[in-house]
Amino acid sequence: MMSISDEQNPRNLKSYLFFSQKRELWQQTESDSSMLGDATSVSPATKEPCSTYPEVPGITYKNFKLSSTGLTPEQRTAALSQLQNYQSGQKTHFLGYQVNQSFNYSEDLKQYLNYHINNVGDPFQSGNFTVNSKFMERAVLDYYASLWNARWPHDPNDPESYWGYVLTMGCSEGNLYGLWNGRDYLAGKFLLNDPMVEEEARKASLSGEPRSVPRRLIYQQTPILEENPNAHIPIAFYSEDTHYSIIKAMRVMAIQNFYEIGTEKYPDENPLAPGQPWPKEVPSQGGHDGPGSIDIELLCKLVEFFAAKGYPILVCFNYGTTFKGAYDDVEAAGKALLPILGKYGLDKRKVYYDPEDPTKYDIRSGYWFHVDGALGAAYMPFIEMAYNMGKISQRGPNFDFRLPFVHSIAMSGHKWIGAPLPCGIYMTKTKYQLRPPDDPEYIGSQDTTFAGSRNGFSAMVLWDYLAKNSYEAQVNKVLYTENIANYAYSQLKVLEEELGEDLWIARTPLSLTIRFKHASDDIVFKYSLSGETLYVNGQKREYSHIFIMAHVTTALIDELIQDLSQPGAFLRQEEEQPELETDIYVTHKPKKLIHVPHTGRGFK
Ligand SMILES: *Cc1c(COP(=O)(O)O)cnc(C)c1O
Repeated sequence: MMSISDEQNPRNLKSYLFFSQKRELWQQTESDSSMLGDATSVSPATKEPCSTYPEVPGITYKNFKLSSTGLTPEQRTAALSQLQNYQSGQKTHFLGYQVNQSFNYSEDLKQYLNYHINNVGDPFQSGNFTVNSKFMERAVLDYYASLWNARWPHDPNDPESYWGYVLTMGCSEGNLYGLWNGRDYLAGKFLLNDPMVEEEARKASLSGEPRSVPRRLIYQQTPILEENPNAHIPIAFYSEDTHYSIIKAMRVMAIQNFYEIGTEKYPDENPLAPGQPWPKEVPSQGGHDGPGSIDIELLCKLVEFFAAKGYPILVCFNYGTTFKGAYDDVEAAGKALLPILGKYGLDKRKVYYDPEDPTKYDIRSGYWFHVDGALGAAYMPFIEMAYNMGKISQRGPNFDFRLPFVHSIAMSGHKWIGAPLPCGIYMTKTKYQLRPPDDPEYIGSQDTTFAGSRNGFSAMVLWDYLAKNSYEAQVNKVLYTENIANYAYSQLKVLEEELGEDLWIARTPLSLTIRFKHASDDIVFKYSLSGETLYVNGQKREYSHIFIMAHVTTALIDELIQDLSQPGAFLRQEEEQPELETDIYVTHKPKKLIHVPHTGRGFK
């Protein structure tokens, strides 16, 4: 038997675990009467999981396998100790994703692992599920409303005030919610009080049983306009650097993007290159080799084409892209788009909700701008403060509710702030709020959020962070990470010089990430590096990147540089590659196929 510390060392892994011992493990399992599957009412394993699942350096899967009798205290202790060694080892070197690993919530919150705290329903209504932390959630939401220049506190009677909630997933849920909200707003959906409920209750009560009048909202679609059949078909625009969660949300929400509608209805009218196939997404400035922010001029051309045909416009901006850390200039884009939208009556339009009565309408914008600020929305406000204090020479573009054309913002809580579990924030204005078609009385608060049950722990974690970190502390943190990012960049450049080899090092300004030539598997595992394939001048390039979050130190960067300076540290890549026949963002008219590109998304 190897000791745990030997198993911990990934370099010993192959020598101790695989192939030679597989057979033995399987035999042990077969004779182990406590295995799941020995009772008649449950299914047995069809093969040995230890040899089926991926190998994890430092982890002996056998130790973690569950059985019908549970594990003995000794087995549990052995497994938990391996877990601890594994997690602490991996956390110490964590560099590949935009997730902060340095925080201390156990000090204030550890006892709540033994509570079920559930913020089910609307955060601004207490509800009957009283083991909740909504009072902390509201404080956290107010904090971000203020930071993002929204009108606060939330007031259901003030349409200009903000509304939002703490997400149970990360920013993916915020994106999903924002696009859902945007789609229904633009599609002319309505929620009305159902006029039938009174009459139904009256009739039912004739049987002698008293009937209550339930609150019931009905979800309605505005009638199709004869003069413009496209008026309620939202059409989505987002750049080629957009996170895969947006593309997934488009599919879940069945929202069509300009590529799909363009290819289907206007195949020869691509305004960027007449006669050529439509691009799948809005090009980013400078393409794959550029900084990664959306090309505003091209966005305007694409939007104008569809606005002229009466389609409402849904734009999803990035504020801190996943791979390059790029910031779309939301302010400049909005200012360029508004005159175009105005020209086609999409700045403000009447949305009728009663076909019989032309006096019943709502005034809505014919566009929705969502900001995916997974990392940047939490980080950049403090860069702006540092800039205003003269402590840093540049700041990012405006992206928040100062811009009257921004409809919704989503952010991940576990990225810049850091949290033991994925979480985040969605925020919009009360006037844009999507309300669900029903209003279940039994939870006592409106079901306005995406999930039903929402974990109340996330709100407590975010609250604890904000209670412990003043603006000043957060400004110091952004200055710290900016310095470390500069340090990492310059050390990589020194290494490049020493090795005499182009390492493709690049950093988008103010981003917390630096990308370079893909490292070898050992280094990728040690530092949890994520990878991406980009095409540069027709050449396929595999990149790795590091993210400089608050836990990263110069010592960790030095260790990485040391590892990268060893022979074989970089993945071998073909220097000479055949020219691609087509640009990878242009394909030959796939029929009705929904395209989900995963390159450039930090998916790996
Ligand atoms: C991380 C990220 C997301 C998704 O956030 P999760 O918290 O992983 O759900 C969305 N957009 C961008 C730009 C991201 O970087």
